[in-house]
Amino acid sequence: MHMKKGILYFLLLLLILFLPAKTVDLIVDKEEINEKEEKEIEWVENPSKDSTKILETPKVIKPLNTSTSRDSNWWEYPKDIYPTKRDGNDLLVLVNKQYKLPSTYAPSDLVKSSNSGIRRGENYHLRNIIIPDLTRMVIDSKAEGIDLSIVSGYRSYQTQVNTYNYWLSKNDNNVALVDTFSARAGHSQHQLGTAIDFSSNEIGDRLGDEFENTKASKWLIANAYKYGFVISFPKGYESITGYKFESWHYRYIGIQYAREVSNRGLILELYLRENNP
Ligand SMILES: [Zn+2]
Repeated sequence: MHMKKGILYFLLLLLILFLPAKTVDLIVDKEEINEKEEKEIEWVENPSKDSTKILETPKVIKPLNTSTSRDSNWWEYPKDIYPTKRDGNDLLVLVNKQYKLPSTYAPSDLVKSSNSGIRRGENYHLRNIIIPDLTRMVIDSKAEGIDLSIVSGYRSYQTQVNTYNYWLSKNDNNVALVDTFSARAGHSQHQLGTAIDFSSNEIGDRLGDEFENTKASKWLIANAYKYGFVISFPKGYESITGYKFESWHYRYIGIQYAREVSNRGLILELYLRENNP
């Protein structure tokens, strides 16, 4: 009897010693699992976070024609290139890597962009049809402490030939690299006279990636559509637009259409594809 009681106490002691330890182990395991799960969820929710960084500053760019899958090489031009389906004067004409403007197309109503009161406007031309809305946008943004400037507007077909070749010469003739950020002649929205590259006093009117973090850029993201402007190459949509993110490049399509793009949460490229079937 005494012996049995002794064994029982011994077993009870074992239980007291080991059960809590085991329970703690289980809790730690569970926490580790939760942490792993959280990391995986974060990755799924932000799949473009890291890949976008790579896209912004391409380090390893595969040369053209080495891959059979064009989908993975978002900067490449398609094999078949067609003339634009709408006239160049049409605000909704789709101009991209597949649809090309004629070399002879130039807008007929080009004026100095300074007509809108935008800074540095003397140096660039835009279509007159933009001027009233751009003027309001410049006035309204100024009232909110934003100092927008223009650093590129209309570019002729021939200017675009020179622009593209300039970037090629600057980049060891790396076609694949240049195609990520510069359009070949006929494929540029700048030939329409409705595309503007913006900058601001915050970055000394320079053109480039640093614009993304300016107050001016944030203001444009929130307000540009109210004046008929839409960002052309948004972040994370490289595989659709064919161009890397350009925080500074906006295209005018008119207030009604820009509102529609905004309300439907579309990007310009997909909206224009819809309207150029
Ligand atoms: Zn541009």
